[in-house]
Amino acid sequence: MHDLIDTHAHLDDSSFDADRGAMFERAAQAGVRRWIVPAIDRGNWEAIERLCASREGVYPAYGLHPMFLPSHRDEHLDELPAWLEQKRPVAVGEIGLDFYVEGLDLDRQRAIFERQLHIAKEHDLPVIVHARRAFEETIHTLRRIGGLRGVVHSFSGSEEQARQLFDLGFHLGIGGPVTYDRAHRIQRVVAAMPLEYLLLETDAPDQPCMHHRGERNEPAYMVDVLDTIAHVRDTAPAQIASATTLNAEKLFTLP
Ligand code: ZN
Repeated sequence: MHDLIDTHAHLDDSSFDADRGAMFERAAQAGVRRWIVPAIDRGNWEAIERLCASREGVYPAYGLHPMFLPSHRDEHLDELPAWLEQKRPVAVGEIGLDFYVEGLDLDRQRAIFERQLHIAKEHDLPVIVHARRAFEETIHTLRRIGGLRGVVHSFSGSEEQARQLFDLGFHLGIGGPVTYDRAHRIQRVVAAMPLEYLLLETDAPDQPCMHHRGERNEPAYMVDVLDTIAHVRDTAPAQIASATTLNAEKLFTLP
């Protein structure tokens, strides 16, 4: 039995309200026994705090997600440092840049992302980064600010971009998209990358693996991600499991 950590799962999402306990049990039975739950906006920080207090092995990250830009206020950013000091999360997240979704003001995204990077640095916390159609600028920003560590979640960039992230001390979060037959580019990145920068994730309830296409995603399905990665790297799943769990424990300083 594996001992896996889902490093990115929105388990406070209302799609789990009807069967959250059973979802955790299915995950545990599949060997996924710890979970990191990143925030999306100020409105779900308390719900994440309650969820993490309700079950062992569930760890919070707090921040303001770029896709939810219209709900963010300057006061929410002002609140973040004190919240981090009081609640001691494992990371600042989910933060980043989204150049795919239309109508999200780019300069406001940039300002909120950078402010949160500085806050994470001041609190010596890793960051969980969302970068959609924005890998170049994200890498540039991380490099310019410097002294950061964390993960670019749901990485789908090039081998060169991956290399630049490793140079900055960043991990790649790999989930459901790698399992698709036509996911050749990300499979190549994953096959060649140093294992020490690899993290497993689901992004539940979004981004299901190929076998669960169109369904609600959940942490139990992360085993498919593990098996795909083991296959493309021609390695035993147990080796990928133990290495990625150790990577997550180190990056997020898990007990
Ligand atoms: Zn997410």
